[in-house]
Amino acid sequence: MTTSLIAMGVAAFMVINLVVGLAALSLLFGTFETLFGKPKLSLLRSSQSGNIFAFGLKWNSAKEPASLDTVRLRLFNPFGTPTQVEVSKPFGPRSSSFGAEVDMGPGFIELLGAKGFDHATIQIEICSSKDGVVFQFDMKGPKFKKLVFDANQTVAEFVSQNGLDVQKESRPPIDIPSRSFIADTVPGRGPQLKISTNPTFAGEFSSSAGAGVAAAAGPAVANFAVAKVWIEPGCIVCNACEDIYKDVFEVKADTCLIRPNAPLDDGLRIQEAAEACPVEVIKFTKAG
Ligand code: SF4
Repeated sequence: MTTSLIAMGVAAFMVINLVVGLAALSLLFGTFETLFGKPKLSLLRSSQSGNIFAFGLKWNSAKEPASLDTVRLRLFNPFGTPTQVEVSKPFGPRSSSFGAEVDMGPGFIELLGAKGFDHATIQIEICSSKDGVVFQFDMKGPKFKKLVFDANQTVAEFVSQNGLDVQKESRPPIDIPSRSFIADTVPGRGPQLKISTNPTFAGEFSSSAGAGVAAAAGPAVANFAVAKVWIEPGCIVCNACEDIYKDVFEVKADTCLIRPNAPLDDGLRIQEAAEACPVEVIKFTKAG
């Protein structure tokens, strides 16, 4: 009886020790992760060839809050040509771990094709233009090339494997069209309000106003209908077009789209959006 009581006591003591030990270890690792967990960059397989740079970033956003919105690649190639290349592109802001594909433009091909690349150093920076946070990763050229060309995990797989929020943090790159447009047919035009802010009637109002006002307003610009409007590849999701004409332009996480059944009768506003586009990817043709 006494022996079994002692055995039970020893067993209970060991179980308690085990539980306390495991708790202490998990606490220790959790603390290490919180205090010293470094941002981790993964290079991923892009869904399109060419200038697309695909990557995933995991970092402790609770410890280091930031809205990351720019990726920058730098090549330092002191013994090759060119000796330095830098490409920098914005992307939709991300405030926690994410995966993304960014069109880096022709500079990316120039960087990969630099003479003496094997002796170069590549610096990858994921930064926040607003918070001043920069996550920097350095590696030698051959390692960078290997990671880029041997990557077999896609952004969608990275996002899913790490349990990231697909809706907010990464939209499937598959929804990037190389070109989006709506049909040539111009929808019928309904009755228009004859008001001074409608550019169609701007001429009439400026001529009926006082001579001084008309001179200040300058010659009226006639509005026109658009037959087709589309987005060429290369959108940097700056939102300028949507701010100008949100009935027509819809900016997604990775590109801009033309809304289905977008109105095409206010060509002046579409033209204004096209002229405001910093990378000139909005194209349109006039009707008639
Ligand atoms: S203005 Fe140009 S770059 Fe900016 S979101 Fe629109 S299409 Fe893209």
